[in-house]
Amino acid sequence: MAPAVRPKTARAEDVASLQLLAALVESSNDAIISKDLDGTITSWNPAAEWIYGYTDSEIVGRSITLLAPPDRPDEILGILRRVAAGERVDHFETQRRRKDGTLLDVSLSVSPIRDADGKVIGASVIGRDFTAAKRAEEALRKAVEELRERTEQLVRSNTELQRFAYVASHDLQEPARTVASYCGLLEQRYGGQLDETAREWIGHATAGAQRMRALISDLLEYSQVEFRAEPLIAVESNAVLDVALKNLQTTIEETQAVVTRDPLPRLIADPPRLMQLFQNLIGNATKFRGELPPRVHVMAERRGHEWRFTVSDNGIGIDPRHREKIFEAFRRLHPQGYYPGTGIGLAICKRIVEQHGGRIWVEAGSGGGSAFCFSIPIRMEPQT
Ligand code: ADP
Repeated sequence: MAPAVRPKTARAEDVASLQLLAALVESSNDAIISKDLDGTITSWNPAAEWIYGYTDSEIVGRSITLLAPPDRPDEILGILRRVAAGERVDHFETQRRRKDGTLLDVSLSVSPIRDADGKVIGASVIGRDFTAAKRAEEALRKAVEELRERTEQLVRSNTELQRFAYVASHDLQEPARTVASYCGLLEQRYGGQLDETAREWIGHATAGAQRMRALISDLLEYSQVEFRAEPLIAVESNAVLDVALKNLQTTIEETQAVVTRDPLPRLIADPPRLMQLFQNLIGNATKFRGELPPRVHVMAERRGHEWRFTVSDNGIGIDPRHREKIFEAFRRLHPQGYYPGTGIGLAICKRIVEQHGGRIWVEAGSGGGSAFCFSIPIRMEPQT
């Protein structure tokens, strides 16, 4: 008969796996505790010491209820009763009290310990301290909440500001019109009776009043971009460009501009606003022309999740130093009298593009001049 070596090997394996288990318990970052069914602690690993502050000699033999926070004295014994009935409790999030009295947020997994006959004789508890994680989560939640409140505040004050700009510019229109027309009347009726200096001054007053009217009406238009916004719908940008070109027909003829285009996409947009965008950009391309008649090219290409439109011209170009500020309201790069305008056109373009969720910027044109680019995110067509 073969020698009975098996039990010896099995014992050696048992010892090895027990040693491994003990090493794991010793080196674990989680508190691993065992207790009997009365709640008397029978083992306590080093992590339990770091987490709860008691050494094993201080706590082994004492009741686990030492760790109960004041507001839930019976919770631990309740869990023990469930485990005594053979139940497992997994990832139970609660609080425990450290030796120094501070409270910890812990996640506990409690399992029954059985004897060789399968009878429950105690419980093992694996506890993870997630106080720091919980604090971080709480801080994040607070930060998100604060951000949301601030954004709401900003939206509110922005809307109020727009309303103010709208009301102010609307109400200023009438007095500005009155000043302009009375200056005109003064010049017409009494111009002959006045000397050269007086006529010159009236001329300045008339020009100033007219400029004031133009600024007020542009401010009104700018403040209305938001209010006039329509829902975004599916639209052929080719057709929208046609309308813009029709509106610009006189300027195009007068300046002998040639406007060309590549095929333009169907996209989700606010058609009147998109039209205004094309009109402002092409209008500028003809206004800020160089020596040669304007040549304007409109194209669009798909870039990832957006359409990128480019309106390029052969005009006077823009100094790279000014490429950002030209999009601010009433920013102009030329003194009055060189080119007409108030400096609101590009600010309106920026608002329109941003309303569509896109960006606008200017680059140097490939053949001189400027290339105004704007992006419009590609959206799903609304179901009809
Ligand atoms: P406005 O045309 O009334 O001056 P905009 O806001 O449309 O106002 O333009 C702001 C400034 O940006 C212009 O005054 C001009 O200096 C510059 N600009 C705009 N478009 C062009 C262009 N196509 N080429 C060169 N400069 C331009």
